Amino acid sequence: MAPRHQRILHVDGDAFFASCEIALDPALRNRPVYVGGGRRGDGIVIAANYIAKRYGLITGMACFEARRKCPEGVLVRPHYNEYRRLSLEIFKRLKHYTPTLVPTSIDEGFLDFTDSPRVFACRTATELAERIRRQIAAEVGVPISAGLGSSRWLAKLATEHCKPDSFCEVPEGQERAFLAPVPVRKLTGIAKRRALALRSLGATTLGDVARLPLEMLRRRFGVFGLELSLLARGELHETLATANNARSCISSATTLPYDEPDYEAALLFLLDQTERVITTFFRENLKAREMSVFVRFRDLEGVGRNVRFPAAQFEPREIDPVVERVFRELVAGQRQPIRQVCIHFCNFEPLDLQPDLFGDHPEFKRRELHHAMEAIEARYGPRSLKTGARLLAESQAAHLLGEKAKCPFVPQREMELKVGQLPETLRENTLDPVYKEAWLPLELSESKSGGGSLPLPRAWGRSTSRATKFG
Ligand SMILES: [Mg+2]
Repeated sequence: MAPRHQRILHVDGDAFFASCEIALDPALRNRPVYVGGGRRGDGIVIAANYIAKRYGLITGMACFEARRKCPEGVLVRPHYNEYRRLSLEIFKRLKHYTPTLVPTSIDEGFLDFTDSPRVFACRTATELAERIRRQIAAEVGVPISAGLGSSRWLAKLATEHCKPDSFCEVPEGQERAFLAPVPVRKLTGIAKRRALALRSLGATTLGDVARLPLEMLRRRFGVFGLELSLLARGELHETLATANNARSCISSATTLPYDEPDYEAALLFLLDQTERVITTFFRENLKAREMSVFVRFRDLEGVGRNVRFPAAQFEPREIDPVVERVFRELVAGQRQPIRQVCIHFCNFEPLDLQPDLFGDHPEFKRRELHHAMEAIEARYGPRSLKTGARLLAESQAAHLLGEKAKCPFVPQREMELKVGQLPETLRENTLDPVYKEAWLPLELSESKSGGGSLPLPRAWGRSTSRATKFG
């Protein structure tokens, strides 16, 4: 029988960055592994696998301290582009199983799971959830945990309850009992202040919250209090929907590798950043009416200016000269080396992609050109195709460029967009070539393994240096 309310599945990668490193290099299996962040990859621990966690390693700890606590641990530098690629491989598979997928971070998301078990001919939700977890472990090489419940809060708590590498369902009718011992601090949205406020009402667990009068919580916390009360009583039922909020600004702020005394080099770097930001316009079919440029100097003082274009712009050849003019005005009379440059666009309009009487609209053609450039870069590597601005930057400001290690803490809106662009269903010919030889139909891979741990796809070892389109 179909459930009365929507069932929501929460999925979350286990120690995701560390798991990715193990997927990329199987020699790391069964060893304590931690990933170091920072410029040189030895700053603070940004992820540690569960073996390393047993030695007391936690995220945020200094790498030298991690080495002291766990001398046999392996410190690996982060490979953010690979994490992004593996993340999309996971979401590509999840998308196959649900009408609504809401990614919330690089390794986390929610699925409408109400009809999924029936659609995929499974007797129970557990059967399908375990099948998906096994599929992702086998094909992507990364373990994920999952939780199922009647709301996002509950599903997430279920995942946390069973982590790592496991699944937990809170069946309909058992919500209140499951939640009763859970401390309120465990909930997303309850930090110090709200926890203190709840404690003053006598509630430290959700069981306590369930006993508080609903009206009291509503008066104290508004809508949040209402939802909290319903959750604690096991009566919160949600309908999953993507946020789908429109983009209000696109910006980039980059601290230079060192304080740059050469303003011309800093300008070339700023133009290069501008070009990178503009690629987002084409990806999201936008043009901007307003732009601002901001320059920060060594003493952390900054100067900035806002520009309003007469008409919305999207082409580097229109935008670059304005950036250059504003930059020169800003730094005129300045003497200090430059520490940071920022470019910011807002006030967007959609690109005009309708064909007119004489053929495709110029904005459509320009976007197609951009997609062709992206396809070339996906094949031959990033920056294999150079624009004039890039060429100039590379010849005169190469010391500022380099591969930027940008951490992929992607906002939900951007994740939704990326996942929205993934192919609708998973067919063999839509798979990344790296999976071709490792790809087996699900049933076959299941029966071969007997449900135990599955071998990693053979292609993994070779894939580390692959360029990714979603960098
Ligand atoms: Mg995670």
